[in-house]
Amino acid sequence: MDLLTPVENLLMVGPAYTKRLKKLGVKTIKDFLYHFPFRYLDYSLTSPISKLQPGEVVSIKGKIVTIKNRYTRQGKTVQKGLVQDQTGTVEIIWFNQPFLVKALSNREVGLAGKVELAGRKKVLISPDYEVLEYGKAPVHTGRLVPVYHETYRLSSKWIRSKVLAILEGLSLKIDEFLPSKIIKSNHFPELKVAFEQIHFPKNKQEAINAKKRFAFEELFLLQLAALKRKREWQKNKSAFSLPAEAKKISIFKQSLPFQLTGAQKRAIKEILADLNRSTPMNRLLEGDVGSGKTVVAAAAIFAAYLNDVQAAFMAPTEILARQHFTTLKQLLEPLGVKISLLTGNYQKNKNRLKTGREKFDLLIGTHALIYQRAKFKDLGLVIIDEQHRFGVEQRAKLIHQGRAPHVLTMTATPIPRTIALTLYGDLDLSVLDEMPIGRQTIKTWLVPAQKRKAAYQWIRKELKENQTQAFIICPLIEESNCETLQTVKAALTEFENLQKNVFPKLRLGLLHGKLKSEQKIKVLRAFQKQKIDILVTTPVVEVGIDIPNATIMVIEDADRFGLAQLHQLRGRVGRGSHQSYCLLFNNHFGEKGMNRLRAMQKINIGMKLAEIDFKIRGPGEIYGHQQHGFPELKVASFADRTLIEKTRKEAAEIINQINRYPRLQERLKNYTMRNIEPN
Ligand code: ADP
Ligand code: MG
Repeated sequence: MDLLTPVENLLMVGPAYTKRLKKLGVKTIKDFLYHFPFRYLDYSLTSPISKLQPGEVVSIKGKIVTIKNRYTRQGKTVQKGLVQDQTGTVEIIWFNQPFLVKALSNREVGLAGKVELAGRKKVLISPDYEVLEYGKAPVHTGRLVPVYHETYRLSSKWIRSKVLAILEGLSLKIDEFLPSKIIKSNHFPELKVAFEQIHFPKNKQEAINAKKRFAFEELFLLQLAALKRKREWQKNKSAFSLPAEAKKISIFKQSLPFQLTGAQKRAIKEILADLNRSTPMNRLLEGDVGSGKTVVAAAAIFAAYLNDVQAAFMAPTEILARQHFTTLKQLLEPLGVKISLLTGNYQKNKNRLKTGREKFDLLIGTHALIYQRAKFKDLGLVIIDEQHRFGVEQRAKLIHQGRAPHVLTMTATPIPRTIALTLYGDLDLSVLDEMPIGRQTIKTWLVPAQKRKAAYQWIRKELKENQTQAFIICPLIEESNCETLQTVKAALTEFENLQKNVFPKLRLGLLHGKLKSEQKIKVLRAFQKQKIDILVTTPVVEVGIDIPNATIMVIEDADRFGLAQLHQLRGRVGRGSHQSYCLLFNNHFGEKGMNRLRAMQKINIGMKLAEIDFKIRGPGEIYGHQQHGFPELKVASFADRTLIEKTRKEAAEIINQINRYPRLQERLKNYTMRNIEPN
């Protein structure tokens, strides 16, 4: 039996519990032991019954000398009893647990809870309890008691007793996998001890020490896995080295209708240097909405064109693919680049784009392009827009006959540099931290419930006077940040309400992720052509869409979004010449929520907003796990810059001698697949 043994092989875990554990992500003994408590009940104070003090939280040991069920008039039950030790007795009460009478009558028990006063009598109300076995230490009382995340019919108490059984009862091989010099220099407990200390600490310091070890381990493995991916990527043969003469690139630059920003110039330089190399590029281009990532990508595409190899441009949705098609045609066709669009209607395209027969330099489509490998004769460059869920496995699919194309991934999600380096340590990073000049700032207001009516009135007037348009973003109903039917239903209800009761004279449109692609395109076209005044949408729809005439962005339940996410939504407006506005609606602003959202009024830079949220919450909280595939940290925090730096240094050192640490290698093998890749 070892850490990778499935939980169903444990005698103490039946099929029903196996299923429930799966819901918590616990499939193996290892998962079980890594299911850490999120807090501890301090039941470490044990007191003789005669010394009990009202108000104190305490454990006692004694015998249940009486216990009876009483029935109330409402058909409920009360269990009243008396527990006795050598020093005295005290009353105990539970509610609606009639089975306790049989279970505890005349038994030696451990009890823990707060001592209350009922009149002048001391009493324990609904204390935690356990029947004590002779010669065994209490598990659920009389110590720091771990509390776990639970799920339906899987209690903390059950988890606690099983974890203890695993740690004490099984002759389990738990080998240390961290290099011993790391363990020693940091004074970390070894793995087995650390498990014992995090689940059943003898005192608070033990729990803290164990947590330090696991926090280190977590970030260390994350970065080590990224470095390993980097090495593996670089082992690929490059498809093509793509040198670009400065003279030719300046032709491209001069053809642009604007001056590049300094940040754009820097990013282009970094990318061209990568393309010139014989190891394939793997770069992340990070830049706020509107910072001009497309033109940077266009420069790379132009370099591929100069070398007579093909490029692929993948957008997250078909609508965006079409938009990029239009933009890139304007930028690149005058220079001779042949561009094709591959839409979801593959049947239609099949004949047109038979294996490398149609001559194109750039093929634009959705991420499904990845499966269209055969369409390319010589794919040298892949651009992936607005996506970092595009993971390791997908990238592996790009490699054809041992040759990898250069890959540029672009994202508007502002991830602070240290964190980007941690999560995407396998990617090189270019950041567009400068906006093209002349961008207007979007006026942002917080709108509490009592001002909602006035805000609607103002919107009506504004839209009428300027002939402009508005977005209204409905909240995600589910926590998961994933668009569910419930969310769609809520958007639909809100749409009907707005059309009927609030904006009866305006033309409203509805957009959500469950619409068919053609229908989405239809709605967006209508909005683009100003046949719709207000577009009601769910938040996950169409990142990056360009509607210059839209000047008002309304976001419902704004407090439920991360600041970076709000900033991205806000970036949908302010693209034309009219002054634009962002209205953050909330029905119940708390003081804390207010403060957080006030940052939106003052700050216009996505990265700064992300930094603010990062101090409080992890990236998963901020951007949504499902949407972006951020791993969720169990113990460590992305706000802990010191530890991130330290673990990065260690990881960089260890990766070069990884062969000397077979157990670490083994661990890494299991790690990469499950923890980094989104499901
Ligand atoms: P994003 O980074 O959000 O993808 P885009 O590439 O769509 O941004 O660019 C947003 C807009 O800014 C486009 O209309 C583009 O033509 C324009 N733009 C890009 N770079 C510059 C620049 N240096 N100066 C002025 N406008 C620019
Ligand atoms: Mg874009």
